Amino acid sequence: MPNYFSILLSLVFLTACMTPEARAQEKTYDYIIKDALVFDGESVQPIKQDIAITGNRIVQLGQLTREEGREVIEAEGLVAAPGFIDLHTHSDFNPFVYPDLGNKVLQGVTTEVVGNCGMSAAPVTGAHKEHIAEVWRREGVQIPSKLSWESFQEYGEEIELKGLDANFASLVGHGNLRSAQIAMNPRDPTPDEVEEMKKLLREALDEGAFGVSFGLAYLPGTFSKKEELVEICREAGLKKNPCVFHMRSESKQLVEAVQEAIEIAREANAPLHISHLKASSRSNWPKIHEVFNLIEKAQSEGLVVTADAYPYTAGAAELGVILPNAIYQDPGRVARFKDLTKRKKLLRELRRHYEASPVSWDAIKIATVAQPKNFPLQGKSIQQIAETWGKTPVEALVELLAEEEFQVSAFYFSQSEAVMEEVLSKPYVAIGSDSIADGSASPHPRSYGTFPKILARCPKDAVTRDPCWGRSIHQMTVLPARILGLKDRGKIYPGFSADLVLFDPATVQDKADYANPKAQPVGIQWVFVNGKPVVRNGKYKPVHSGLFLTSQK
Ligand SMILES: [Zn+2]
Repeated sequence: MPNYFSILLSLVFLTACMTPEARAQEKTYDYIIKDALVFDGESVQPIKQDIAITGNRIVQLGQLTREEGREVIEAEGLVAAPGFIDLHTHSDFNPFVYPDLGNKVLQGVTTEVVGNCGMSAAPVTGAHKEHIAEVWRREGVQIPSKLSWESFQEYGEEIELKGLDANFASLVGHGNLRSAQIAMNPRDPTPDEVEEMKKLLREALDEGAFGVSFGLAYLPGTFSKKEELVEICREAGLKKNPCVFHMRSESKQLVEAVQEAIEIAREANAPLHISHLKASSRSNWPKIHEVFNLIEKAQSEGLVVTADAYPYTAGAAELGVILPNAIYQDPGRVARFKDLTKRKKLLRELRRHYEASPVSWDAIKIATVAQPKNFPLQGKSIQQIAETWGKTPVEALVELLAEEEFQVSAFYFSQSEAVMEEVLSKPYVAIGSDSIADGSASPHPRSYGTFPKILARCPKDAVTRDPCWGRSIHQMTVLPARILGLKDRGKIYPGFSADLVLFDPATVQDKADYANPKAQPVGIQWVFVNGKPVVRNGKYKPVHSGLFLTSQK
């Protein structure tokens, strides 16, 4: 007969001797976030409750006992929100060029959307690879000289292997499709070439791309006419993937550019998304109201129209875009700028242009250059550079573009704070930082501050009362997830991916500015990416739990 007493005794003894790890095995959840003010992404008011995470999922909401969690995070007084989705970035090459910066997750960003403004890291096929590299270098990203991928799927595999802080979701750049067929040629593609472009897009969409982006102010998108764009957009529209526009103009021709984008999406039967919605240059600021009217009229007629914006009054782009179109689009422009014998004629032409369309030279500041000898110019305005060199601003502009072979980018201080606030107040506008070259010497502060800056606009002492908090969180979570078609992200809900941010509403604040662009924000306490803490008590620790998301998953 077994000795039950001794069996019982040894069981008690065994339990007492269990290692903490073994005891932890008995817990139900990996993490319990206790007593947080939870904004689920939809709600305007928070609910004080607990969140349980197991593996990569949110598994339970409500009142939970502390004992059930392997790790319990006391979140009294903190807000819990779905991880922020940065709908507009140019981080496509960051994991290769600037790994483990942490600048995005430190803002609470858990998903970065890349492939914007007509340029993506994939697909890159055959002879045109160098053209894509050129586009990125002009924007200040010194991309690897040899890319180890061609297709969209291969890029996804490579980047995931490299290790991602946050999830990545990518659009396909129309520039990639076009240059795969006709390089940077200014001509129209033939019908057969358009078919090839559509085929390349279809493959990438089948491999998980979320939509197509156009960069109509840039090379080579600037060469494309409406008919070509409708055809490409139609392909995306077949599965309701958005057509995302960096429009032809954001200043003088802003209204016409919005009209064009609406017409293209309507003809193509595709959802329309407008990137970095703004009005550049003082004389164009009032035009934003006509833009809102156009968008809202199209919406009322059944077209899906959304937009994104960043909370800064300066934009950034390659310096060459301020040139007159005929010069910017000239395939021989680098040689032309370097040729001293042609310099006089070029200067004359430019002087005439800027007399007719004046530019504020002190409002254009150099962001990135490629030549080390010009590094001290970063952060200086064209006006300041001209004064240092004893030249006119137009001479300094030409000299700099020639020396840098156009691989120079700039900040443009041309927007109004009031217009920016009006844009951000629209319920169809999601937040997108438009960040690029985040690890460079002088990045735009939006690379380090966008999301805390949005939150810091809300009244700190009214988190349970003022709708600003819930609305802002919605613009950074559920709204971008919906625009993109992300199925199980952007919301705090059982079964959803455990992408979460915990922040202190009393202290959350961006710290980055143009003088100090890499300053880390304060108040972001915890960030979970796919159930793993990447930021713990305000400290960033790379764990590479980010995934390359595909539209099918
Ligand atoms: Zn853009």
